[in-house]
Amino acid sequence: PQPRPLSQMAPEELVALRDRQRSAHGDLVAEGLSLDVTRGKPSAAQLDLSDALLRLPSSTRDRSGTDVRNYGGLQGLAELREIFAELLGVQPDQLAAGGNSSLTMMRDCLVDLLLFGGVDSPRPWSQEESLTFVCPVPGYDRHFALLEELGIGMVTVPMTPDGPDAEAVAALVKDDPSIKGMWIVPTYANPTGSVCTQEVAARLAAMETAAPDFKIFWDNAYAVHHLTEDEAKSADILSLAAAAGNPHRPLTFASTSKITYAGAGVAFLGCSTDQVAWYLAHLGKGSIGPDKVNQLRHVELFGDAAGVRAHMARHREIIAPKFAEVDRVLSERLGGYEVASWNSPAGGYFVSLDVLPGTASRVVALAKEAGLALTPAGASFPYGQDPEDTNIRLAPTMPPVEEVTAAMETVATCVLLAAAEQLTKEN
Ligand code: PMP
Repeated sequence: PQPRPLSQMAPEELVALRDRQRSAHGDLVAEGLSLDVTRGKPSAAQLDLSDALLRLPSSTRDRSGTDVRNYGGLQGLAELREIFAELLGVQPDQLAAGGNSSLTMMRDCLVDLLLFGGVDSPRPWSQEESLTFVCPVPGYDRHFALLEELGIGMVTVPMTPDGPDAEAVAALVKDDPSIKGMWIVPTYANPTGSVCTQEVAARLAAMETAAPDFKIFWDNAYAVHHLTEDEAKSADILSLAAAAGNPHRPLTFASTSKITYAGAGVAFLGCSTDQVAWYLAHLGKGSIGPDKVNQLRHVELFGDAAGVRAHMARHREIIAPKFAEVDRVLSERLGGYEVASWNSPAGGYFVSLDVLPGTASRVVALAKEAGLALTPAGASFPYGQDPEDTNIRLAPTMPPVEEVTAAMETVATCVLLAAAEQLTKEN
């Protein structure tokens, strides 16, 4: 039968649809599939693009003649910082290049803020009575887990296609000094794919905050991870904040985890030079310098910023077809029923699928029975709780394209079945 909205179907039509999906689901269970679209990892073919790293660096000295095998150089190699400063739209002296994980740098910054306070803090954050971060949702689960572990409370605002709802953020932070910061993934957000516009960034950079040391944790993990030729440019949050008289408000992060090797890349912190000094002063008590050998081999692999862009185009060739497949299968299988909506991201690593409210956990459970691992429903919300039970994050980069097809066929069956179950129960 021609698909039409489930909400318009007569009870017997719904029951028939439910039974067809039940039988399709039973077939999937019997097939014994083993599929996984849970985490945004690069595929082996993507990792292979950087295998020249295994034979680099060809030199043991950096541009200034320093032996990279030795201690020192806490801020990271200047030539690598120059390449990424250009890509991230900051100045090289506003950037520190570190180890392999930007998430670790985010954690370091939070812990330093708690223990010591920031350059603009009246006291260490841990001495405040209570601490809260604004969290755009759906968002990145590890951001929320990090705050939860550190005892920092979370208040949510909606994500829009243009970034976080800036007016909602501004209203929250204006009068409440316990709200000390916010998360944002500005470019190709995890999981909605939203790109923060210059206008939203300007509002966040300039808004009045009751806390004098409010921080925007600007996690630009997907700054150069375009899926189309229309390459989104990240808003220049550091300049916007400086121009608004809040130079220390943004702490920006990025890494090569999804450019070279997810487990052996280089991470970056970009912020005011005072805050770079603040970060390095604390880091310097626990490190004599970063892995400069790894940093130098990254410099040799890329050469310059154009080298990084060319490299990202090769990633795009591998993963864009997988995203296209997600969209194709979901459109073909779910179009017309009005039980789900999803985005077609122009970059990043995720598709955010919204199913009929109240059915996301059921969809994930049905998928599991059919041999498909989906990210737990609610994962993209603080404390793992999606108040509407509607959102599911799909990560199609890791499996081969045939498995993406099979996974999305399974998703479609489970979404329809869960929706039909719910509506037949209600009738
Ligand atoms: N931030 C975001 C938004 C991410 O999606 C990820 C990876 N899933 C990370 C940070 C992790 O970055 P890193 O590998 O540099 O720690």
